[in-house]
Amino acid sequence: MDNQEFRKQAHKIADWMADFIESIEERPVKSLVQPGEIFRELPDSPPPKSENIEAVMDDVNRIILPGITNWQSPNFFAYFPANSSYPSILAEMVTATLGAQCMVWETSPAAAELEETTMNWLKEMTGIPQGFGGVIQDSASTSTLVAVLSARERKSQFSINDKGFISNVFRVYCSSEAHSSVEKAVKIAGIGRSNLRKIEVDHQLAMDPDKLEAAILRDIKDGFLPTCVVAAVGTTGTVAMDPVTPIARICKKYGIWLHIDAAYAGSAMVLPEYRYLIAGIEDADSYVFNPHKWMFTNFDCSAYFVKDTETLIRTFEILPEYLKTRADSQVNNYRDWGIQLGRRFRALKLWFVIREMGVEGIREKIANHISWARELASQIRVEPGFKLFEPQNLALVCFAIVPDKVKDVEELNRLNLDFLHSLNSSGKVYLSHTKVGGAVYLRMQIGQTNVERKHVQNAWAFIKTESLKYL
Ligand SMILES: *Cc1c(COP(=O)(O)O)cnc(C)c1O
Repeated sequence: MDNQEFRKQAHKIADWMADFIESIEERPVKSLVQPGEIFRELPDSPPPKSENIEAVMDDVNRIILPGITNWQSPNFFAYFPANSSYPSILAEMVTATLGAQCMVWETSPAAAELEETTMNWLKEMTGIPQGFGGVIQDSASTSTLVAVLSARERKSQFSINDKGFISNVFRVYCSSEAHSSVEKAVKIAGIGRSNLRKIEVDHQLAMDPDKLEAAILRDIKDGFLPTCVVAAVGTTGTVAMDPVTPIARICKKYGIWLHIDAAYAGSAMVLPEYRYLIAGIEDADSYVFNPHKWMFTNFDCSAYFVKDTETLIRTFEILPEYLKTRADSQVNNYRDWGIQLGRRFRALKLWFVIREMGVEGIREKIANHISWARELASQIRVEPGFKLFEPQNLALVCFAIVPDKVKDVEELNRLNLDFLHSLNSSGKVYLSHTKVGGAVYLRMQIGQTNVERKHVQNAWAFIKTESLKYL
């Protein structure tokens, strides 16, 4: 392809992009293809000779699109959002065009310095203490792994990095509702799943700090080293909120690294009225939230903040001869702030989003999502045959159908999963589910970039109609 052809195709694809987004509501939200269906459509071998982009785009339309679940549909209510937005897409085009690999400052100074700037902006926007250093990781899973590894190194005086494990006495704590990435992190960090203590939760599904302290005291008595606590501000199941202030006090008392996982809920901190949820953060060691969830920035972009950047860098730094540069003492080389060496230029899309929407624009969208979720919750609360999970937090609404005639929990669960399946296979909406105390609840999050009140209300009307088959 030459530059002239590239220009032509780029314009055509830009139109394709705008058409796609404009008509996205006509497509099924959840892909309705069967396993293997796409694979069978694709040739077994690569083409020996050049094909033109038009032919490739024809196949995108014919083969690929039916196998896409439309996360950017305003009728997408499943999981948590993985939002894109117009400014973010434009930035991704620019990023791809630059094609810079931003492992150290010198390999693109603007990438490093824009990353520092956008992370500082996020601190100001969401009430994170200025003393924290910020870095963009690929995902909250990676951010939490980075936190666990930093905690392990601080606790072992950097001896595991040096000598490996001689004996393993490290213990990590999270609530029984914490994200599976905590378990993955302790597995990868060599601490082991059996050294992850899952602390019981209260009736709101928040970690009970007294039970945390009791577990820590027991471990100390048994010769273990309490190393890291992961507090969830907004669990994945129901957006339950672990109480940061008492947990931070306990961590401080016993010299434990406190990592806060606010992967989803962190975006809501643009609204000052929700910052009480992270009160006590100044006593935490690290904090993660995902702009790629609810801050309109294309996957992947996870914002990781850490108080002691020296420990972070000591945990991850490497300095082979071929990576030494003259600027090293004056700049941030983000290769030493995480696991990977090569890094994408992720700050650009965040910068585009914040500038194009403005802090007020971001606030307005998130406040709307929360208020539409509340309105929906108030409707479900009084709807016969429906049960709302409470507390309802931020923009997630969990509910179940509870027909009078069905009393058995397993039968209710089966019924709710059937109900969910029938909603999703309609193509009109996409919801997901969770389990609370053995009971299945449908999860409906309101957070897609272009969702409006009417989408939520239309979905609710559809849910009520469908439920008649089961009630
Ligand atoms: C989504 C989520 C994660 C995982 O996020 P990734 O960026 O996909 O790794 C971790 N913790 C919580 C609470 C989440 O909701």
